[in-house]
Amino acid sequence: ATLPSSSGSMLHGSAGGKVPLGLRRRAMRVLVTGGAGFVGSHLVDRLLDRGESVIVVDNFFTGRKDNVAHHLGNPRFEVIRHDVVEPILLEVDQIYHLACPASPTNVVGTLNMLGLAKRIGAKFLLTSTSEVYGDPLQHPQVETYWGNVNPIGVRSCYDEGKRTAETLTMDYHRGANLEVRIARIFNTYGPRMCIDDGRVVSNFVAQALRKEPLTVYGDGKQTRSFQYVSDLVEGLMSLMEGEHIGPFNLGNPGEFTMLELAKVVQDTIDPNARIEFRPNTADDPHKRKPDITRAKELLNWEPKVPLREGLPLMVTDFRKRIFGDQEA
Ligand code: NAD
Ligand code: UDP
Ligand code: UDP
Repeated sequence: ATLPSSSGSMLHGSAGGKVPLGLRRRAMRVLVTGGAGFVGSHLVDRLLDRGESVIVVDNFFTGRKDNVAHHLGNPRFEVIRHDVVEPILLEVDQIYHLACPASPTNVVGTLNMLGLAKRIGAKFLLTSTSEVYGDPLQHPQVETYWGNVNPIGVRSCYDEGKRTAETLTMDYHRGANLEVRIARIFNTYGPRMCIDDGRVVSNFVAQALRKEPLTVYGDGKQTRSFQYVSDLVEGLMSLMEGEHIGPFNLGNPGEFTMLELAKVVQDTIDPNARIEFRPNTADDPHKRKPDITRAKELLNWEPKVPLREGLPLMVTDFRKRIFGDQEA
């Protein structure tokens, strides 16, 4: 690809005076789709910090301008309001594809970004999900496991959409010789997470702060493994820069039942927070825990932040966003 704006001056960046790239190589132009979202915005922080030029493409469906507002004015940063379901022409070296409407259009967006990567010869990284394993019959989940997904269930659109996205990614790799990477992300939490999207960590934290009961679905004995967002971002960048396609599980193997998670939230925010049981949703996976042997060996990556250390950092952010400055 020709890179009209990759001038030598970018090596030094413009913000903070850091020279993180050193004399290693010139700065790159990196596209982050979904870069105004929870994970994307943290990734953008790190890429800019490293001296790259970053273009965010986001339709602000679940993302927020606030998440990237601190970079407006940085000449190495650009946001384009655009729905990835529509084709787009850009010139970049790398594409981190995070934009993901939880709808069938997920597949169309991925196809367009693969088409873009093919035209300009960019490296393409797909953020897939542990949901490709469905309600797994293997525990912990290894990348070679093909999963147990109900194709017609209420959760299927997201799960099957990501499975199809993985298939397309490998087809473009084989058919068009595209350089690709696939990350299977396990439950991730941290500052800037959507407050009201119904995920368990955001629900419990917001409920405890608002003095509402923590809603535990089912018997609360189902498990998940929670990864702090900075660990995930390190993993995504190591994957992009490394030599291996994947798929790679990126998650924290620390496994918790929902009742154990509720306890951690109580200990962190309010020991008196009550627990209220609610009926569970259909097809809820009973267990989930990543086997990260492959990422450890080939990416030299493993998560560093345990739940009890990461949760308080998220609570600080939620407190500010829920109460504003007066109680923060
Ligand atoms: P998020 O909702 O905060 O971010 C997604 C971003 O994509 C948002 O900014 C949204 O506005 C944007 N977007 C959605 N549809 C779009 C479209 N059609 N065109 C342009 N932009 C669009 O979610 P997140 O938690 O940051 O997730 C990022 C990626 O990681 C997603 O692909 C998600 O499937 C994957 N993932 C996340 C987790 C997790 O626990 N957070 C787990 C597994 C996989
Ligand atoms: N595409 C895009 N930007 C580009 C190149 C392609 O958005 O710079 C879209 C294109 O509109 C198409 C998809 O990516 O819908 C797949 O492109 P590809 O060239 O692989 O497929 P084809 O158009 O040959 O079917
Ligand atoms: N869950 C819960 N209370 C809530 C929200 C979710 O007990 O308020 C449970 C849910 O049933 C599931 C687990 O928490 O077993 C994780 O749900 P989440 O939607 O966060 O992630 P996913 O199911 O996609 O892994």
